[in-house]
Formats: sequence, C-alpha cells, structure tokens
Amino acid sequence: MPYVTAWDAEAVRQPKVVRRIGRGGEGIGFEDENPVTDRRHEALWVRSALAQGCGTPNFRGVNSPRQKRAMRYSLCQICGLTVLGPGADEPTLHLLGGDTPILEGETTAAPPLHAPCAVEAIENCPPLGRGWAAALVDYSPLWGVAGEVYDRETLKPLPIPEGRPGDLTYVSVNDEKIRWTLASFTAVSLHGVTPVSMNELRVMAAEDARRAATGATAARL
Ligand SMILES: [Zn+2]
Repeated sequence: MPYVTAWDAEAVRQPKVVRRIGRGGEGIGFEDENPVTDRRHEALWVRSALAQGCGTPNFRGVNSPRQKRAMRYSLCQICGLTVLGPGADEPTLHLLGGDTPILEGETTAAPPLHAPCAVEAIENCPPLGRGWAAALVDYSPLWGVAGEVYDRETLKPLPIPEGRPGDLTYVSVNDEKIRWTLASFTAVSLHGVTPVSMNELRVMAAEDARRAATGATAARL
C-alpha cells in the first residue's frame, strides 16, 4: 500500500471557511482556526486525521499530512522510507503520470521514490499504465501548494483553470492568492532533470537491491 495513499478513516469534517485578516493581509481562515496546525506557507490547510491502515484505502486520494511529511523529509511516496543516500547531494528519483516527459522547472505534488518502488508502482498502478515519465532530479526546492483557491466575494472555491475534475490549482508561495487557498499538498519545482527510461529504472532497481544485500552482509560481519 503506498505510504501517501489516503484511508477512509482519515477523512474528517472540514470547518467553515471564513474571511480573515492575517499578518499578510486578507484571506480565508477556519472559524475555529489553530494557527499552528491549520496554517503553513501563509495558506490554510485541509484537516485530515492520521489513521494509516484504518478502514479501506482510497487509491485515488493522497493523505495530506503524509504527503507534506514525505516532501519535507524526502521520504519515498511508496514505502515511506528516506530516499536520501549517504551522499547528501545525490539526485532523487521522481515519477509522474501522463505521457509527457518531466520538464525542467516543472512543479509537482508527487514526493520522490526509490527505483524498486517506482518499478513496482509502474507494474501495479493502473493509472500509470496510461503513461508515465521518470527523471533523476538534482534539486527540488519548495515552490508552493496544491489546493483550491477561494473567491474573495462568495468565499466558495473557484473552478480549476483548464479544469479536469478532481485536480487542484498550484499556487506559488510568492503569489498573494496563497492567502485565499485551502491547501492539500506541498508542491516543489524540479531542477537539473535527467529523464530515466524503463530499462534504466530496472538497472537502478537492481543496483539498489545489490547495495541493500551488501549492506546487510556488512552489518552481519
Ligand atoms: Zn520506497
């Protein structure tokens, strides 16, 4: 079960969204807002329980707190373990759905992953059967959030631009719209992008497995 997948017991009632004057100016807030847990990067954040494994998994949904944690600590979106190797400057692997290659500077809410986890996801995740792109990425700084932008007059969510149902709007931390955004996920931008083919992924996965086996032998000695 992918680490970031949402479970039905994690859905919680969302409080009423109200107009609020904050430090950065006017925007949306919750009626009973907790400034520590409900706000980050000036955006308001959806509430979600942490109850991994409880109820049934919602494969189309991603748990907001686990996604944020995976982005912040470079955890694999599939197994939840760190993707950082012994060298801090090593590139990280990213996998996106769709049939276009990953572009330099592209923004995404998908956390990184391990090569063996990527191969497993491509082989078992039906949406990726319709197309995917993988790349090694040198640098992925915080870019903004993915969420719903609210109308300043009606305080209702605005339609998603070029709307595909269920998709979210990406809002940069430098955009004043961030104070009108109910955020679900952290978004990063991808830089130093080197595309990776299926064959290269399999080689990387085999190399990871070999390294893991060598590490286990060394630990036993
Ligand atoms: Zn993994």
